[in-house]
Amino acid sequence: MTSPSSDNFKESLKQQADIVRIVGDYVKLKKAGAQNFSGLCPFHNEKTPSFSVHATRQFFHCFGCGESGDVFTFVQKVENITFPEAVRLIAQKLGVPMPKISFSSPAEARDAQVRMALLDVHVRATQFFQECLRRPEGANAREYLKSRGLDAETITRFRIGYAPDSGFLLRDALRREFDEELLRESGLFSWKEGRSQPSAISHQEKPQTGQQTAAIYSKFRNRVMFPICNDQGKVIAFTGRTLSADEKAGPKYLNSPETAIYSKSRVLFNLDNAKEWIRKLDYSILVEGQMDCISVYAAGFHNVIASSGTAFTELQAKLLGRFSKRIVVNFDPDTAGARATERTLGLLVEEEFNIQVLTLEAGFDPDLFIRRKGKDAYAAALNQSKEHKYFDYLIDRARAMFPARNAESKVKAVNHLLPHIQKVPSRIVRDELAMEISQKLGIDSAVLRQELKHAATSRAATHVKATAEAQITGAERVLIRALGSATQMQASATRTSSREGTDEEFDPARQAQYALQSEHLYEGLTAQSLIEALLAAGTETADVMELPKTEEDRRLLAAILMSEEEELTPETVEGAVRALRRIYLRRRLEEVQRTLEQERSGGSKGEKHALLQEMVRLKRALMDPGLGETDSKAS
Ligand SMILES: [Zn+2]
Repeated sequence: MTSPSSDNFKESLKQQADIVRIVGDYVKLKKAGAQNFSGLCPFHNEKTPSFSVHATRQFFHCFGCGESGDVFTFVQKVENITFPEAVRLIAQKLGVPMPKISFSSPAEARDAQVRMALLDVHVRATQFFQECLRRPEGANAREYLKSRGLDAETITRFRIGYAPDSGFLLRDALRREFDEELLRESGLFSWKEGRSQPSAISHQEKPQTGQQTAAIYSKFRNRVMFPICNDQGKVIAFTGRTLSADEKAGPKYLNSPETAIYSKSRVLFNLDNAKEWIRKLDYSILVEGQMDCISVYAAGFHNVIASSGTAFTELQAKLLGRFSKRIVVNFDPDTAGARATERTLGLLVEEEFNIQVLTLEAGFDPDLFIRRKGKDAYAAALNQSKEHKYFDYLIDRARAMFPARNAESKVKAVNHLLPHIQKVPSRIVRDELAMEISQKLGIDSAVLRQELKHAATSRAATHVKATAEAQITGAERVLIRALGSATQMQASATRTSSREGTDEEFDPARQAQYALQSEHLYEGLTAQSLIEALLAAGTETADVMELPKTEEDRRLLAAILMSEEEELTPETVEGAVRALRRIYLRRRLEEVQRTLEQERSGGSKGEKHALLQEMVRLKRALMDPGLGETDSKAS
């Protein structure tokens, strides 16, 4: 059954995997119809469920944010992994053995090989550092960890280790297993010679000449090593905290450089441990440093992550947003890294996070706070932060910066706040904020108040775009469902007509195809491209959801199929065709009338005559009883 061809494997896996069960691992689903389940969308923040799973057609669709797809797409998005990884994960969940992965090009295969090997290097390096921590030379590191209040359990959970004060021990340990070229790619080593950056490598391309390359040595020496993991819990990089007082020992904290497996902008420290807790508790705690993060986690607040001092990227915000859009920011936004912090907060505002600010007493970071005051005090502070919204914090700060109670000072405070407000995507929220600011700053000038409101609400990027789904007519819906039923008919060849007493088999797909192909009635409609894609595929489709050519069409199809309610009958399909014919004729009639009006003064007699004739013909056609609501013609 598990064919080595990945396409076959994917298909067979898709048939075995029940999307309702797989999604159920992440979303609490409730039965919502004959074939639908619904729950709270994991891809956007919502209080009432608009996320649906179609049990027979095996796809999901969110009416809120528009995400949709099959079981692979779901796992890919919710876990933030690549397609091959999603296939692998689902196979694991089902206990199906994986065939060998096939790649589309040798370069892709080689890159994947390098990445796998680099992960192995990091597994070995982590073990090596952990072992060194236990050895006599790790005494100082153990002492340091103890002074930071970390117990054995926490040290093991975070796989903390020690990099010895030697440049060669790690190299010698790893060289037994790995190629030196690979070690150069790992980010764990340095070398002196001005050798150009090593490119992507393979074992075949290893220089065979006698050319001497400079010896490699450990980048991390005499440092406590904190592994950085991807959200699957695989070690992909390290942060090393120096134990040396010597200035020549380099920076206090040293990070791995970017490698084929580590991209700083995509990783959130501790997300692998925290993600399920963030989902469960529906909020995350963001702290600045890894040490803070570990302390907060060890104190029992498992939904904590760290930004590692740099500004958040959009990718990180989106990644985090998949688990919860509520966040408590536990660092003083006024401190040294203020600009990075401000950018992080701005980005979270743009991504529509609900942000609260937890400000600890001056001089306390979360780590110190917990060690001195205990976890109950931290829990209390966390609880209090629920009252402290980010914008309250910003307004307080603006008031502190421009304390004078005169008009000039108030204008300055408003101008300081405006860029923050304009980042808020929702116009309604911006409007509310403007009101709140007027109140809190005591702006009594009607002019200033008006200006503030205007600046806050007129954000360039605001436009409420009517979705295609809202514009589509009921007739288009019916015909799309009919066309989409082609696969269902194949699946159940024995299905008989819903009409009682009829032996003749009713095939809605064929009926719709016949009507649409002969008259092209769908031209100019919202769903034109989607209908065209369905028509082009005919009845030879395995999965109707794979037919649409654009993301927008795919969403439209998902939305229509998800809300299938009444059964299709020859009458509903015929009625839909008639409705489209009416729409078509009316539109054409309007066109003709418009042209006639424009040509009232000019235009040749012949043209005018032809248009008038067409107008009469269209009017007559529209009066045809066959177009009426009641069916007069036998089908
Ligand atoms: Zn959604």
